[in-house]
Amino acid sequence: MKHPNRCRWVMMATIIAGIALAGLSGIVSGAEPIHPMFVLGAVLALGGVVFGVITVRCPFCGHSLDLHGFGTEYCSYCGEKLD
Ligand SMILES: [Zn+2]
Repeated sequence: MKHPNRCRWVMMATIIAGIALAGLSGIVSGAEPIHPMFVLGAVLALGGVVFGVITVRCPFCGHSLDLHGFGTEYCSYCGEKLD
């Protein structure tokens, strides 16, 4: 899984899943006391951000790419085509 656009999708999905899980936990069991599911969701969302920062990079020059936006075709640093 080296393609930055694919990694970005995984990152988005992980963050959304984490937020959904944390939100669901808030709805189901309330904010007090903090439910393990809320913590899990928050960790998942944070993990998604970390994953994105680490993996959404140009495979040619290694420069980190924009985390938002979809389907980056060319690296904005070295100009290489990304797929
Ligand atoms: Zn590049």
